[in-house]
Amino acid sequence: MAGRILDGKKIGAAIRADAGEAARDFAGGGRPPGLAVVLVGDDPASAIYVRGKVRASRKAGIRSETHRLPADATAEALGARLDALNEDSGVDGILLQLPLPRGLDAGKFLARIRPDKDVDGFHPVNVGRLASGAPGPRPCTPAGILEMFRRKGVEVAGRRAVVVGRSNIVGKPLALLLLHAHATVTICHSRTRDLAALCSQADILCAAVGRAGLLGADAIRPGAVVVDVGMNRIVDETRVRELFGDRSRRLTRFRRHGYTLVGDVDPRAMRERASRYTPVPGGVGPLTIATLLSNTVELARARRAAGNG
Ligand code: NDP
Repeated sequence: MAGRILDGKKIGAAIRADAGEAARDFAGGGRPPGLAVVLVGDDPASAIYVRGKVRASRKAGIRSETHRLPADATAEALGARLDALNEDSGVDGILLQLPLPRGLDAGKFLARIRPDKDVDGFHPVNVGRLASGAPGPRPCTPAGILEMFRRKGVEVAGRRAVVVGRSNIVGKPLALLLLHAHATVTICHSRTRDLAALCSQADILCAAVGRAGLLGADAIRPGAVVVDVGMNRIVDETRVRELFGDRSRRLTRFRRHGYTLVGDVDPRAMRERASRYTPVPGGVGPLTIATLLSNTVELARARRAAGNG
């Protein structure tokens, strides 16, 4: 029997609506919540992500601004821009779009954002808060996944979760959030042996790797909940046929557009074996943007409560 879709678009829309209501409430106190997105360079994918984030925040009643710096911006120029935003009392959240152009060390600049304006939760202070379970902004993609579980009644406590991927942006914070929610967590990565065997023990399987269709039927326990974070652009028709079949609608759409987006889990195996799963596209992506909005409003409230905004 085919598994049920965890519809990220619908769940994301509900989270956005709640964030919009909270933003209106906040604005009643004098000014709307403010988000500043900093984009360095001209990577086309990053520009698309930034536009999407800014559009969604404006729709939710968050005052948002984009700060563009050229690809050859100096470390001093980027640092000065972040310092100015740190000082701007109308800005509650600062998002530094990654990746940065070569030569600019992301870790150094993420640490320059004030922790109380760190909307992505990547500042070392907030990483520490996450690790210790103290309150603070949580990285948007993992926090969105946990919020989806909460809203859709996916039980986490006591269940066995396997997270494939250990990046600071997704895998590691997701594993920590699952642990805080009382799952028994295994983290896998590129050096993991017997990956499929480990994954096949999971009640909740989360893939955040960046390899199209890496996890197949042998990695999915029948009835598992599968969250596919991977976003891989496929331009090879043979691969699309392998993953979706010769007569799939996806193949028709691929021929029209010349590419398609695929997750890290084999889509047919996921549909056949999982009890519930996030599709790609339309799964985790919309949750990430929605959580950015709720994080911004949360920061605005916390700053106002602390007398800073
Ligand atoms: P990274 O490249 O930073 O991390 C990938 C992780 O996967 C690493 O920990 C790596 O292991 C592991 N890995 C690589 N190859 C294998 C393998 N063969 N077997 C097991 N593990 C492997 O990626 P991100 O975490 O930033 O992103 C992961 C995916 O999620 C990407 O497709 C990205 O586009 C997508 N993404 C989607 C978002 C959304 O909103 N939908 C948001 C953010 C990311 P090791 O550490 O050993 O190198």
